[in-house]
Amino acid sequence: MKRHLLSIDDLTREDIERVLGRAESFAEVSGREIKKVPTLRGRTVINLFYEASTRTSSSFELAAKRLSADLVSVKAAGSSVDKGESLKDTIQTLSAYDPAAIVFRSPHAGAAGLVARWTRASVINAGDGKHEHPTQALLDLYTLRRRVGRLEGLNVWIVGDVLHSRVARSNILAFGRMGCQVTVCGPPTLIPRGVESLGCEVRTTLDDLGEADVVYALRMQHERMAGSFVPSLREYATRYQIDGRRLAPNQLVMHPGPVNRGVELSAEVIDSPQALITHQVESGVVVRMAVLYELLAGGPPADLMQGHAPLSAEASEPQPA
Ligand code: ASP
Repeated sequence: MKRHLLSIDDLTREDIERVLGRAESFAEVSGREIKKVPTLRGRTVINLFYEASTRTSSSFELAAKRLSADLVSVKAAGSSVDKGESLKDTIQTLSAYDPAAIVFRSPHAGAAGLVARWTRASVINAGDGKHEHPTQALLDLYTLRRRVGRLEGLNVWIVGDVLHSRVARSNILAFGRMGCQVTVCGPPTLIPRGVESLGCEVRTTLDDLGEADVVYALRMQHERMAGSFVPSLREYATRYQIDGRRLAPNQLVMHPGPVNRGVELSAEVIDSPQALITHQVESGVVVRMAVLYELLAGGPPADLMQGHAPLSAEASEPQPA
């Protein structure tokens, strides 16, 4: 694997298979009472978030802690960024701690790539503007494969605000690389021009939604919309909301969160057993453990077994009640 994970394009199909396999083995660790292995003991991971996050930041924190890394979490609000420190200076300052990895989120497309030029640490893109969110795509692949048992040949429809979505971009690449057939669907104003070149088909109505095995709904990204892209949210929901009427019983539903309940998904769909949304959140921890592992400690299978040994013999024993 390359030193940084900035885009799904940094990964071959074999790399993706390895991350998913590694995540499977970490799922076993997550089932233990003490969910911790010593793999990254003595190494430092910095979480640097310049944009709101619940799932991504908390799961990266848990992932680093479960690998026994020393973790520093910095949010833009309350840091020296508020005092006018530039991104480059912030990265140089944090690099003085000799981190093994910097997990970076920014509202600006391409910012993670810049950070990678300014530090010796491995940089993991945790979402950069409209560009990419590769670990989201990896955890989606993992969740779906666990549920269905395979990825090859699945028909995935990505529905909604494709234009402003880094998740859409990473997922078109990731699903495609794993042999899925990908279609994006949304109002023409929310479909980026030329998106087909990423390897997907484009539809502007849900008329053929029945052909999908998986419906991946996207959030309407108000914070990235400078103008008005749909007449109203109500009108959007009328034409594009995934609800019980539109969804067939054999179709699965995914969403990266946070969901606008009643806009892109109806409440009944969110709460139905067809929705994998909470499984996606759960997968976030093991998949991010696997990414940290692959970037910082990846090696032959023998190393893996060593890295997965419990912290101590007693530590994995069930504790008396
Ligand atoms: N949580 C995802 C992201 O950070 C999706 C979203 O915000 O709609 O891109």
